Amino acid sequence: MNAPAIAIVGAGPAGFYAADALVRRLPDCTLDLVERLPCPFGLVRGGVAPDHPGTKAVIRQFERTLSRPNVALFGNVEVGRDVLPAEFAQFYDATLYCTGALRDRRLEIPGEDLPGVFGSAQFVSWYNAIPCEPRPAPRLPGTAAVILGQGNVAADIARMLARAPEELAATDISAPAWEVLAAARLTDIFVIGRRSAAWASFSALELEELGAIERAEPRVEPCDLEQGIPQDMPQERRQAAERNLEILRGFAARAPQGRPVRLHFVFNARPAAILGSTHAEGIRLERTRMEGARAIATGSFFEIAAGTVVSAIGYRSVPIPGLAFDEARGTVHNEDGRVEAGVYAAGWCRRGPQGVIPANRADALAVAERIAADLGAQAQVAKPGRAALDALLRSRGIRWIDAARWRRIDAAEVARGASRKPREKFLSIEEMLRAAGAD
Ligand code: NAP
Repeated sequence: MNAPAIAIVGAGPAGFYAADALVRRLPDCTLDLVERLPCPFGLVRGGVAPDHPGTKAVIRQFERTLSRPNVALFGNVEVGRDVLPAEFAQFYDATLYCTGALRDRRLEIPGEDLPGVFGSAQFVSWYNAIPCEPRPAPRLPGTAAVILGQGNVAADIARMLARAPEELAATDISAPAWEVLAAARLTDIFVIGRRSAAWASFSALELEELGAIERAEPRVEPCDLEQGIPQDMPQERRQAAERNLEILRGFAARAPQGRPVRLHFVFNARPAAILGSTHAEGIRLERTRMEGARAIATGSFFEIAAGTVVSAIGYRSVPIPGLAFDEARGTVHNEDGRVEAGVYAAGWCRRGPQGVIPANRADALAVAERIAADLGAQAQVAKPGRAALDALLRSRGIRWIDAARWRRIDAAEVARGASRKPREKFLSIEEMLRAAGAD
């Protein structure tokens, strides 16, 4: 076989894990990582909370992959806008889409477009300085905030709101977000689940951490917690549910300590409407009861006043014009990672937004194996790859960021951190391009 030309669209965890597997398996290939933003690393840079720096250590491994002589970065290139999927298919022997799930699922309730209501993707992008579509940044008015959903993204957001500003000052949080958090006067943060406590999706470590924030105390009503694991709960969830219930029982047993912030866990409450006319003023919730694994609405409503509502109820992938999309699942249409001949998908855009960062590794490795096997079965691979993409981008006047330019951005951000924090991220694509010398 000649040296195959492979493109990976999306330089996040799944893209990097797949790139690493492919260059090991096919050492002669050329592999191009194409990324919408000028900066690589996807959710590791833009999703992981600033107070979890250990989770970002995997970037060192991704940097090593990027340093391999046959790997190139094409940052600031948006597929579907700058280059079409059909053009990738023409230029590359295999194209693997690892574009993640960037769009918030909607609540589909009245008032969700009011100022003061945010999807978690938007909220997390704000504190992680990820350039996204312009919308007013959070201001966090008043003393209460509501977070809808009881998964690890909700836990991340609750921690970021509950921590003292001094604790966050030495992280890579964006400077404007830090200023808003430092000026906020939040005393009550409500983390709300539509199902009962046993069905909460927090990982035990993340839940425990919510009880260990210096200036905050968790509040749980003991009567809200099941005595045992619901009979209908699938076997694979039972152990995690048992652990979560134990942690929540510990929270419920704590005597009030008079700390400045209270983290309220509310269960069996389904969002019904956001209250307010010009800005969010609170939320109306409907009590639910469990019937098996399902939360059934009871017709009994209550309200919580809050100036900020963040919905952390999961994500969808963004459809790419020219690439088959499964509207119902919100993912790239695929069968075990195969989209069509020579086109593949891996990570959250393949299987939906589930699983921690290392879970994408197994997925990416399996799809990389499939690509290697399909390429191995071909008598000849002869597509032009990088040279053709390079020429097309030049002809369209697109300024892309290669690995050397990314390193300039990286070094400039670290320098802006001025030893006070790991880095001060740039807030806009224009600033990044300027730092890269690509404006
Ligand atoms: P998630 O774990 O699926 O949690 C989503 C939450 O939203 C669930 O509580 C779900 O309740 C609720 N929800 C969904 N639709 C709703 C609706 N219409 N109304 C009210 N509530 C609704 O998703 P996630 O928190 O976005 O996390 C995504 C993945 O990233 C997860 O696998 C997570 O573990 C991972 N992650 C990990 C970390 C970490 O390891 N530190 C950090 C962040 C994210 P139901 O159960 O009732 O559907």
